[in-house]
Amino acid sequence: MIYLDNAATTKMNSSCLDILKKYSEEEYFNASAMYKQGNNLHKEIETAKNTLLNLLGTSDGKIYFTSGATEANNMAIFGSASFKQKKYLFSIGEHPSVYNTAMALKNSGFDVDFMPLSSSGEVDYTALKSMLSRDVCFVSTMLVNNETGAINDIKKIREIINSVNPSIRLHVDAVQGFCKVPFNVKSFRVDLCTLSGHKIYGPKGIGALYVGKNVHLKGITYGGEQEEGVRPGTYNTPGIMAMTLAASDMKKDMMAQYNHVKALKSRFIDNLAPIKDKIIINGNGSPYILSMSINGLRGETVLHMLEQDGIIIGTGSACSSSKVENRVLTAMGRTKDEVLGSIRISFSKNNTQEEIDFAASKLIEAVNKLLAM
Ligand code: PMP
Repeated sequence: MIYLDNAATTKMNSSCLDILKKYSEEEYFNASAMYKQGNNLHKEIETAKNTLLNLLGTSDGKIYFTSGATEANNMAIFGSASFKQKKYLFSIGEHPSVYNTAMALKNSGFDVDFMPLSSSGEVDYTALKSMLSRDVCFVSTMLVNNETGAINDIKKIREIINSVNPSIRLHVDAVQGFCKVPFNVKSFRVDLCTLSGHKIYGPKGIGALYVGKNVHLKGITYGGEQEEGVRPGTYNTPGIMAMTLAASDMKKDMMAQYNHVKALKSRFIDNLAPIKDKIIINGNGSPYILSMSINGLRGETVLHMLEQDGIIIGTGSACSSSKVENRVLTAMGRTKDEVLGSIRISFSKNNTQEEIDFAASKLIEAVNKLLAM
C-alpha cells in the first residue's frame, strides 16, 4: 500500500507505541491520585506541558490536554464566548470542528461572522481588516488548511488585528502546521492554539489547547478538579506522553522533514506534466498537502480507481468527504465541477520517491482512462 492521505491521519511512530504500552501496563496509575505513583505521573504531565509550551515557542501560558483537536476547538470558542453584544470572527475555510462550533455559537444568539478566502485559499487579509472593529472580541483562523494546504500568515493577521484593537483574542487551529511549518505563539501573539496528536505520528484521541498567560478561559464541561476544573476528566497519561514525544521528535527534525515532503510534492507535480492541462492545483502552501481538481471527473471515482492499485488518497477532508458541497474550495472561487473533481494527496516523512513516481503514473493512467470513458 502507498499511503498518501497523511492529512487525514498519520501512521503512529513505534516509539509512541512503546510509550502507550509503558503508561498503560507499568505506569497505569491515576495521575490525580495522592500516593507516590500518582504524584510522579502528575509531575511528568507538568513536564510534558512545559515541553509542548517550549515547542510552541513560549514558556508562559498553559496547556490543557483534551480528547483531540475537535474538543480543543470547542473549548477555545465556547470557553471564550461571554459577551453577546460583541462580535466573533471566523475564517470561512475552517475545519468543521471550528466552523460548526461557530455556527452553534451563532445559533445561541452570538454575533458571528465569517471572513472570505482569497483564490489561493488564505484568509482575505483586506476583508479581515474591513470586518474588524472595536466590537470584535474574538478572531479564529487556522494555520494550515487541511484541505488545500494554504498557509495563513498569522503574524500578519495579528498585526492587522492589533491595528484595530490589540485586546482581540486570536485563536489558531494549528493542527496541520504544528511541527510541520514554522510557527510560534509568542512572536505571533496567539492567545489560543489547538493541537492534535494523530497528525504528527502520535496517537488518535489526544490533543491540546494552549491558553496564553493573560487569557481567561471558561470550562465547557463539568466534572472533577483536574486542570483546575477547566477540563475535567482523568488524565489520558499514555496519550499525553506519546503525543508529547511525537511532537518533540518531529520538531527536532522539522526542517529535514519539511524539505523531504517538499521534494516529494514538487516531484509529484512535475510527474503530472502529461496531464497538466487537465488539472488545477488548489493553492500551493504547505508541502505536506497537494489539492487538485481534475476537469470532468469526480474526485471520488479517481480515489477508488487508485485504491485498486493500492494507492490511498483523499478527497477534500475526511470529515467532509460525504458532502458534495465544499465550503473551502467554493470560497476560493472554484466551480461546482472543480469541487466535484477535487482530490487531496498528502505526504509524510515515510513516503519515498519511488512511491511518488508510482502513484503519479497511476494517477495519469486513471485520469486518461476515466476521461476516455
Ligand atoms: N482541525 C484541523 C485543521 C484538522 O485537520 C483536524 C483533523 N482532520 C481537526 C481539527 C480535528 O482533529 P481531531 O481528529 O484531533 O479531533
